[in-house]
Amino acid sequence: MKALRYFGERDIRHDDMADPKLESDRDAIVQMTACSICGSDLHIYHGHGFSEDTGFCVGHEAVGEVVEVGRAVTRVKVGDKVMMPAAVGCGACRSCLSGVVNNCENNASGCYGLSARLQGVQAEAFRVPAADMNAVKIPDGISEDQALMMTDAMATAWFGARNADIRPGSSVGVIGLGPIGLMTVEAAFVMGAHVVYAIDPIPERRALAGAVGAIALHPDEAMERIKEDTRGVGSIASSRW
Ligand SMILES: [Zn+2]
Ligand SMILES: [Zn+2]
Repeated sequence: MKALRYFGERDIRHDDMADPKLESDRDAIVQMTACSICGSDLHIYHGHGFSEDTGFCVGHEAVGEVVEVGRAVTRVKVGDKVMMPAAVGCGACRSCLSGVVNNCENNASGCYGLSARLQGVQAEAFRVPAADMNAVKIPDGISEDQALMMTDAMATAWFGARNADIRPGSSVGVIGLGPIGLMTVEAAFVMGAHVVYAIDPIPERRALAGAVGAIALHPDEAMERIKEDTRGVGSIASSRW
C-alpha cells in the first residue's frame, strides 16, 4: 500500500509500505477514507517530532471503513464506518474505562503516527489496537468531515473547556486562537459562558473569534481589559454579586 512516511526534517514521502496486519485478536484493520493534518504532524515535518524514529507513517486523525477484525472484537464489524480517537488506550484499565486514555495504566500505544511504535493513519489502511475501544462507529447524520474533527481537534477543544469547569454565566479567557483555540471559544459558549475573551496576536484569528461572539483581544491589551471589565475579580458574573 501507499503511505505518507517521515524520513527527516521536511522529508515526508508518499511511499510504499507493508500492508497492516492484525497483531492481536482485539485489533481491527481500517481502510482510510479521509484523514487530516494536525499541528502535531507539522511539528514532525519541521523536525521537532516525538521520537528519533524514521520511516514511520505519520498521522493520527482519520475516519474509514473496517475491513478486518480480530476474533475478540465485538463492537465494530467489517463494513462499519468508524472514526478513530487519536489517543489510543488498552481499553481495559481503569484510566481507559474512565475516559482518561492518555493515562492508560498498561502503557498502550499512545497515539498513531508519532513514532514507529504505532503506525500512522495517513495511509491507505492501518491497524487499530483494541478496536472495541479505539474505533467508534460514526453515528447517523454525522458527515465524514464532521467525524474527522472529533478524532482530535474538536475533542481536544471540548476536553480543555470541560476541564476549565465552565458553567452558565462563566467568564472565560482563551489564550491562543489556532484551530483548537477557536473551537474552545465555541465550546465555552455551548457550555453557557457569559463572555469569552479570545486572545491572540494575529488579527485574522481574532476576527474569526469575534465572528462567533467572543471579545477578541491582542495580548498587549488583554490583561488590562479583563481586569477592568471584571473589576479585578476575573469574572463578570461574580463582580456583580
Ligand atoms: Zn492531532
Ligand atoms: Zn488502558
